[in-house]
Amino acid sequence: MDNNKLIERSKCSGCEACKDICPSKAIRMERDDDGFYFPVIQEDICINCGACTKVCPVGKENTFRKVDYNDTLAFGGYNTNVEELRNSSSGGFFGSLAKYVTDNGGVVFGVVYQDNFRRVVYAASDEVSIDEMRGSKYVSAEKNGVYLKAKAQLMTGRLVLFVGLPCEIAALYAVLKKGYDNLITCELICAGPASYNVHDAQLDWLENKYKKTTSYYTYRSKKYGWVPLCLKAKNGKHIYDVVYEKTLFGIGFPYAKRLSCFNCWFKDSRRLADFTIGDFWRVNRGEKYYNEEGTSVVFARTKKAEEIINKLDSFKKVKVPEETALRGNYTQLKTASEIPQKREEYLRVLSSQGANLKAYDSFKPKMSLKTKIKKSLPPAVYRFLRRFDNGRY
Ligand SMILES: Cc1cc2nc3c(=O)[nH]c(=O)nc-3n(C[C@H](O)[C@H](O)[C@H](O)COP(=O)(O)OP(=O)(O)OC[C@H]3O[C@@H](n4cnc5c(N)ncnc54)[C@H](O)[C@@H]3O)c2cc1C
Ligand code: SF4
Ligand code: SF4
Repeated sequence: MDNNKLIERSKCSGCEACKDICPSKAIRMERDDDGFYFPVIQEDICINCGACTKVCPVGKENTFRKVDYNDTLAFGGYNTNVEELRNSSSGGFFGSLAKYVTDNGGVVFGVVYQDNFRRVVYAASDEVSIDEMRGSKYVSAEKNGVYLKAKAQLMTGRLVLFVGLPCEIAALYAVLKKGYDNLITCELICAGPASYNVHDAQLDWLENKYKKTTSYYTYRSKKYGWVPLCLKAKNGKHIYDVVYEKTLFGIGFPYAKRLSCFNCWFKDSRRLADFTIGDFWRVNRGEKYYNEEGTSVVFARTKKAEEIINKLDSFKKVKVPEETALRGNYTQLKTASEIPQKREEYLRVLSSQGANLKAYDSFKPKMSLKTKIKKSLPPAVYRFLRRFDNGRY
């Protein structure tokens, strides 16, 4: 089968369902010049069975799975374990759900860093700790045959939690071809992961500056609390903990997305997971479910999810109206997003300038004076002043 039989590159999410399903192992993922991975069929091994084109979830309506609530059953809340909440990106819903699964003898599939943070890969909680899974890694994970690994666990009857981006959840169901009673799926609200070129450039920049390899790295440090977002790294004795928009990665994040993500197929009623989770952006600070260390928005989309969320002892939650839950993430959940005008220009600068932070000055987001002042305050002052501001995030 030739490569033209796969869905065109501008629509391919890189979900790897085709790679997983191929009976001859004829598909490998190749990184392109912009740092995105695409499937490539090795024609000398391919037996032309068509399994790869059949499994691809893009452009197809799902026929075997229906969710019970399309975003109408929504909650705001946070993990009551303070340590877990601090180490998670949002309100730590993932940690509460993962605990429920492991306490019941189940296995969790999530993503972790590898090779000094250069790679992001899927792994099972039998091999890595739940702690390593915590935190958003804003590049697409290598799947490593995860869909078939999850299937093997499901066939044993064990409880399985699979966490991923909406395209990865759709890929899992496409490979499984059916739902399982012992499967819980949880998708992240998704603005699209960034290219590995900008992730690498950020790590290169840190290592050039401090002349040490990176020993700690997170895109969601809670230096100021949940917001503003900060990127934290440790290189030798040096600690870098800087407001997102000032970092090389933060400047590039809006531009360095793969084309398919601007017009993501897996939105609204095409989202298939039991749970959809994210940051409860635009929450009112006075709400009972608000926590300044992070607040999760959770959509329970199936009866199974509804039952489970009521059993999570460590997740303090309040049911909220659909429009309240949607307002901070409407585009990510419901509609296509605009391709930034300077995307092509940005990608050209990224591939020629790499870790040269100065080269990205013209791509920096415009901030109001008020925001600039707020973001330059010492963290303790910022946190103190926030107590008197009861507005919306
Ligand atoms: C690329 C990307 C874009 C996102 N965009 C938005 C957005 O626009 N709006 C919003 O509200 N939320 C977004 N999120 C989700 C948000 O950042 C949090 O991941 C989510 O709220 C879960 O937080 P938590 O505190 O419950 O989990 P945590 O305790 O932080 O655990 C993180 C969980 O996410 C999984 N995970 C982390 N990185 C990846 C990855 N690259 N691919 C697959 N799974 C991963 C981990 O395995 C773990 O299960 C995005 C996440 C990613 C990875
Ligand atoms: S199955 Fe996934 S990786 Fe393969 S062609 Fe389709 S979208 Fe791309
Ligand atoms: S925006 Fe859509 S296609 Fe892109 S990574 Fe997210 S879920 Fe997948």
